[in-house]
Amino acid sequence: MSTETTCPYCGVGCGVLADADGRIAGDPNHPANAGRLCSKGAALGETLSLDGRLLHPEIHGVPASWDAALNLVAGRFAATIAEHGPDSVALYVSGQLLTEDYYAANKLAKGFLGTANIDSNSRLCMASAVAGHRRAFGEDVVPGIYADLELADLIVLVGSNTAWCHPVLYQRIVAARIARPQMRLVVIDPRRTATCEGADLHLPLRPGTDVALFNGLLAHLHAVGAADDEYLAVHTCGADAALAAAESTMARTAESCGLDAGDVERFFDWFAATPAVVTMFSQGVNQSSAGTDKANAIINVHLLTGRIGRPGAGPFSVTGQPNAMGGREVGALANMLAAHLEWDRDGDADRLAAFWQAPVLARRPGLKAVDLFQAIGSGQIRAVWIIATNPAVSMPASDAVRRALAGCPFVVVSDCVRDSDTMDAAHVRLPALAWGEKDGTVTNSERMISRQRAFLPAPGEARPDWWALAQVAARLGHATAFAWRGPADIFREHAALSGLDNHGARRFDISALRHLTDAGYQAMRPTRWLCPEGLAHPPERLFADGRFMTADGRARLVPTPPRAPVNATDARYALALNTGRLRDQWHTMTRTGKAARLMAHTPEPLLTAHPADTPGMADGSLVRVTAAEGGAVLRLRHDPSQRRGVVFAPMHWTDRFSPAGRINQVVNAAVDPISGQPELKHTPVALSPFAAAWHGFALTRERPSAAPAPWWTTLPAAPGVWRTELAGFGPAVEAFAGLRAALGPDQAWMQLTDPAAASFRAALLRNGRLEACVFLGREPALPARDWLVGCFDHATLPQAARRALLAGREPGAATAEPPVCVCLGIGAAAIAAAIASGCDTVEAVGAATRAGTNCGSCRPEIRIALAAQTPVPA
Ligand code: SF4
Repeated sequence: MSTETTCPYCGVGCGVLADADGRIAGDPNHPANAGRLCSKGAALGETLSLDGRLLHPEIHGVPASWDAALNLVAGRFAATIAEHGPDSVALYVSGQLLTEDYYAANKLAKGFLGTANIDSNSRLCMASAVAGHRRAFGEDVVPGIYADLELADLIVLVGSNTAWCHPVLYQRIVAARIARPQMRLVVIDPRRTATCEGADLHLPLRPGTDVALFNGLLAHLHAVGAADDEYLAVHTCGADAALAAAESTMARTAESCGLDAGDVERFFDWFAATPAVVTMFSQGVNQSSAGTDKANAIINVHLLTGRIGRPGAGPFSVTGQPNAMGGREVGALANMLAAHLEWDRDGDADRLAAFWQAPVLARRPGLKAVDLFQAIGSGQIRAVWIIATNPAVSMPASDAVRRALAGCPFVVVSDCVRDSDTMDAAHVRLPALAWGEKDGTVTNSERMISRQRAFLPAPGEARPDWWALAQVAARLGHATAFAWRGPADIFREHAALSGLDNHGARRFDISALRHLTDAGYQAMRPTRWLCPEGLAHPPERLFADGRFMTADGRARLVPTPPRAPVNATDARYALALNTGRLRDQWHTMTRTGKAARLMAHTPEPLLTAHPADTPGMADGSLVRVTAAEGGAVLRLRHDPSQRRGVVFAPMHWTDRFSPAGRINQVVNAAVDPISGQPELKHTPVALSPFAAAWHGFALTRERPSAAPAPWWTTLPAAPGVWRTELAGFGPAVEAFAGLRAALGPDQAWMQLTDPAAASFRAALLRNGRLEACVFLGREPALPARDWLVGCFDHATLPQAARRALLAGREPGAATAEPPVCVCLGIGAAAIAAAIASGCDTVEAVGAATRAGTNCGSCRPEIRIALAAQTPVPA
């Protein structure tokens, strides 16, 4: 029987049915997805191998016993605190952690090490939304639920490529719009993303002008009488100040935001006329030096109109990570206490200290992520424990983070992978359980707590993170406070803490779950908070009663005067770099990078730019991206729909996959002054050609062990086949000889070379089986890789294929192309043919080709193809 568990990727939190043999299906009974999965979730079964796993503790790269490793961690942390004080140590944790692991980490740091220097990579994801909620509502609470997206008459998506980053939510929106065609969709995003296809209106605003747009909307709503005066009078305060700060006209708003005035008018009119409106926002809002103000500017328009806490209405922050919300519940951010308790609320810290029996509860907030790594770099923090995250890649100015870790006297890294860019700095490696092996809970963006259950045995000596934390706590003399037998014990403690002296003072209250038995925890169904003890039917939506968690019970409209990004573009760095995610990748690719079909959609780190912004740089060439912080080299993709002056790059690539493609080595470390969230969406950069003398690729059965060229990127092209793209300087003939020598003895190669044309091709066969092939040329245009990759399937390569090998394509075959539908391997040509034959809807294309009929993540791209090929009626 399949195990009911939860997807480990995004904050949608889809239910998954998983089997030990790798079969994966969407859980039809899970309220988040009702059986749907996106391409990443559907490919989970392909990521379960133990390749690259860390299976035993290591000290200085040498296998060690758990006892030795834990003794060393406890001893070094204790010694560092004894010599330099509690704030000389830190933990850096992750929205990938289960709530129970998160709870243990926060309890150890704040209660028993005596430092609030524990921050989470969720700081990079949604800290601005948290800060906005706390300013407006008095507590970090998402009022709405996913069903509101189906009940709304107008959905406004701000800074959210929902189709790629929260695909199942996007599928729910698409299905709702088919059922209710009158439902409108507005997308506010400087980029024209897949989410914009099918939207009623796309507002491609100038980057960083979201506050100006929502201020303009606030002023407009007030001017046209759309404000709910009674709601404002009874349930809010601050409207006058917010309106004064927002004062604007429609024309001025359009000009500030670089938008068409008619489009702004249409948006404002629709918003004013539609009571059931949900404004969903994500990283495009949060990852900004004005992220908190952006969140509050959005919340302001909902408070002004009283559109909050009602079916189909409200501001809705969606989280990137699977358990960002769980981290917020347990207070695993440096500026939060557990269970939504607050340092600056009388008695809260004492309450928590008494509940935990904590001897040295931290009495003030700690350092947020960017400051925390800078403190490591300056020597203020001298011991750090990093758990389930890869800050050497994901942090802005990541080279400075690497230098900081390299100079840190003691670095512990807990992870399930042995090698990562962050692991390189570890003095102690601790093997953690991975998805499918670990057991606990996660909370998704709509406050739904779901079980993540184990369906695989623990490999090697891997252990749960909570266990390692509790073991260290015990070695520091706190065994009793961490004497949990399993995750159910931790969850019960967490639930009990949420109800501590609560009596409605905090909306985060799951005290009804504090009495769960072990069997009840094991069988627990998805449960949304609020769920306090003694309340039979808690509300699904919060704030429907108009009572907020401020001292006077009123929500705050917060004045949000617009301000520009911290680092403006200038003559040296005239373009603004925006970073984000790809449809089929997750974070730093430690998991999705194992699935060849997920790599197929975008096999290289790309930089998308308007052609007019890249004079002298051809589509498909390599370009150098330079900023004050550093440089990167990416493949240029021209896109005329890209806003002029703004370029985009995905954030996933690491040293393991493409060292020069790591874009966060370029990204500035500017932060929002309130939330501390980095400005990952705006870095001033310059572009220049990467004038490589030659380009090439190699296909191999083994992953290349050494860096083979000044620029390279490597990925699994198929099970058991690695594809490495290369470029370099100097004579191509020398590079060619070097590659061949690295891959096999010279006499075994068949080759075709034309030195005058700088064209070099070679294939290595052993007993008729293709082992490797290498193609080099002066230009990036080289044979398509797919047919060659397929040649590795043969135990003995057929003669016809052998003859065609160095031509790089099957005789008479059309050029291969990357798939649009990754699940079913269907490319653009098949989709174009279906459209040409009369298919005029996504469904018809799906019926003809099967594209888009599995997870549906590619349906926006099919819609783009339809729009491009369908003749406009005369
Ligand atoms: Fe996982 Fe995709 Fe669902 Fe997100 S939308 S939880 S990545 S299946």
